Amino acid sequence: MTFEVLTPRSLTEALDALDSEKNLLPMAGATDLMVYLEAGSLPACTFLNLQEVSELRPSLSVNGGLTLGALTTYRDVRVSSVKDDFPMLARAAREIGSLAIQSRGTWAGNIANASPAADGVPALMAYDADVELASKKGRRRIPLSSFYRGYKQMDRRPDELIAAVHLPSRPPGWREYFRKVGTRRFQAISKTLLAGRILMDSENVVKDVRLVFASVAPYTLRAVRTEGVLRGRELTPALVHRAVESLQDEIHPIGDIRSTEAYRRRVTSNLLRDFLQN
Ligand SMILES: Cc1cc2nc3c(=O)[nH]c(=O)nc-3n(C[C@H](O)[C@H](O)[C@H](O)COP(=O)(O)OP(=O)(O)OC[C@H]3O[C@@H](n4cnc5c(N)ncnc54)[C@H](O)[C@@H]3O)c2cc1C
Repeated sequence: MTFEVLTPRSLTEALDALDSEKNLLPMAGATDLMVYLEAGSLPACTFLNLQEVSELRPSLSVNGGLTLGALTTYRDVRVSSVKDDFPMLARAAREIGSLAIQSRGTWAGNIANASPAADGVPALMAYDADVELASKKGRRRIPLSSFYRGYKQMDRRPDELIAAVHLPSRPPGWREYFRKVGTRRFQAISKTLLAGRILMDSENVVKDVRLVFASVAPYTLRAVRTEGVLRGRELTPALVHRAVESLQDEIHPIGDIRSTEAYRRRVTSNLLRDFLQN
């Protein structure tokens, strides 16, 4: 099987190539793609190497919100001041793979790889991130929480690249929670994960909440129904119980080589309780 690499120097060149050639596969850090290549699961194709596209370069601009250029890596977040402004991003970055993977792997690649076990996506989704897509036809922005349509199915056309990821500014007063559960503390694929944020008022009423889970559905799940159970109500033990019941309806974990369905259900409930009760 033959694989080739095309290295455009500008976004226009990259988008022209995507528009005119059918068999191109965007490549950023290649930390997912090289695994597929080695496993023999990639059909012959030409990799569209994005590393030289200056418009996609690693960038973290904080202007109220945060914009991550498509080539921004986990390490870029870990070594920048963004880690103080968006702590769940730093937490996710620290728990992804090894330092080598963190230095190559990109947030955009994590989104486009669309693994239900992705660790970067839940943190971004819990911060209400938008994905900016670019093609020859123009640009559009869609909320990351509505980007996935099914297992490895996304609202991205083959002629589109993820150009950037945008996060709104982080308002004060929210409490945050990020917990990944794997077989080991580090270098593990998530069995389940919760990235959550909650805003309470002085009467112990939930003003707003975000609950995002990995590895319990065909794609990263924002548990909007369970958020709805919590929003506007006093956070009592009875409400926590109702939220856990709702979550059990909302998730669809499978049993696989990493875990059983029963374990995932139980531990996912434990994560939600831990978040809400502490
Ligand atoms: C040893 C090892 C450990 C890992 N550990 C973890 C972990 O703990 N948690 C975790 O979440 N992941 C982990 N990963 C997976 C991987 O590192 C991440 O998903 C990473 O973010 C992928 O980014 P990348 O830039 O390397 O993507 P690539 O491999 O370059 O691409 C991945 C996919 O995204 C597409 N793509 C990339 N950039 C764009 C773009 N700008 N526009 C459109 N499509 C694009 C590619 O076509 C491909 O389909 C691990 C991988 C390895 C090899």
